[in-house]
Amino acid sequence: MSLCERPLSRIVEALPRSGIRRFFDLVSGMEDVIALGVGEPDFPTPWGISSSCVYGLERGRTSYTSNYGLIELRRGIARHLAATYGVEYDPETEILVTVGVSEALDLALRALLNPGDEVIIPQPCYVSYVPCVVMASGQPVTIPTTAATGFAVDPQEVEARVSRRTKALLIGYPNNPTGAVLSPAALRGLAEVAERHDLFVISDEIYDQLRYGSPHVCFASLPGMRDRTLLLNGFSKAYAMTGWRVGYAAAPARVVDLMVKIHQYTMLCAPITGQMAAIEALRRGQKYTAAMVAEYDRRRRVMVAGFNRIGLECLEPQGAFYTFPSIRATGLSSEEFCERLLHEERVAVVPGNAFGECGEGHVRATYANSLENIREALNRIERFVRGLRR
Ligand code: PLP
Repeated sequence: MSLCERPLSRIVEALPRSGIRRFFDLVSGMEDVIALGVGEPDFPTPWGISSSCVYGLERGRTSYTSNYGLIELRRGIARHLAATYGVEYDPETEILVTVGVSEALDLALRALLNPGDEVIIPQPCYVSYVPCVVMASGQPVTIPTTAATGFAVDPQEVEARVSRRTKALLIGYPNNPTGAVLSPAALRGLAEVAERHDLFVISDEIYDQLRYGSPHVCFASLPGMRDRTLLLNGFSKAYAMTGWRVGYAAAPARVVDLMVKIHQYTMLCAPITGQMAAIEALRRGQKYTAAMVAEYDRRRRVMVAGFNRIGLECLEPQGAFYTFPSIRATGLSSEEFCERLLHEERVAVVPGNAFGECGEGHVRATYANSLENIREALNRIERFVRGLRR
């Protein structure tokens, strides 16, 4: 057997490619496309934040940092979580700075799971959740949610899926791709299930600051939840800092200790550039976030109204920067809809089934784009949908 025939990792070979990536490959190289596909702020990082990194670079701050991350940043995170949500973490032992929430998620799962341990995941959900559980040798147990219930997961359905092997519940609200948030009662219901069955809860709260109504409820702030929650958050979305690659996990010291073990062997530390910028984001970034959220809110209303006018039923998202309209009325599958819309009208949206089978019949469109582009995209989508009816 030659080297090129030898099997590579079976686990990785068996993983499907991300439905989003496959679609971006189609988009690349096409001109005049309005991209409503990528889940990324269209704003550059505010200069007040970027310049703090430049200042650090000018002073020669280009080294590795502690594996845990700069202590000034961990202290800033601890202060932020205490002031915003009333949850206290020890910056020395309970906070780990990571390469985005992406790394924090991977570390959290690898630190928690033994082979075959089950993780319950409501869907539609962020594309990485299921593959990351599989790569950590776990077993994902998914729960479909639908537009009929506002894509809110029912705690009773979670409880119905708990088995002897269930180790954790993995949730992400405000949700990517639906924009859904959970009511305080639903969150309390999940907390009770976690308590009754002694589960960890991995709570990805990367969109906590992108809210358009009631304030965010941090899962770790619910009674009894601090010591069973792995809180994941970061700077990519709230401060338009995707390329800086900074996130963090806040969790009980025993869990963080294992996460650091993996992190020190695989990553060493998050980039110091991003960490310096993140310190400034926490110190003085709130005004930038508030301005971006106000702008997202304006665009959100235009997009939701536009889809509903066209006849693509769309719930009002309460957080993040995505809409998840139903395209069932067109009779097309999500993938057909996206491919034809792209080729016929040059608008890129993502098929809903990329986020779990229950996302079929929907597409994800982000309003992290200019109002001008959003209006033009809606005109094109309307023309496309009218053309289908003829
Ligand atoms: N979690 C969710 C729900 C996301 O939507 C994303 C990015 O789109 C991430 C995590 C990854 O974020 P980061 O840039 O912090 O790695």
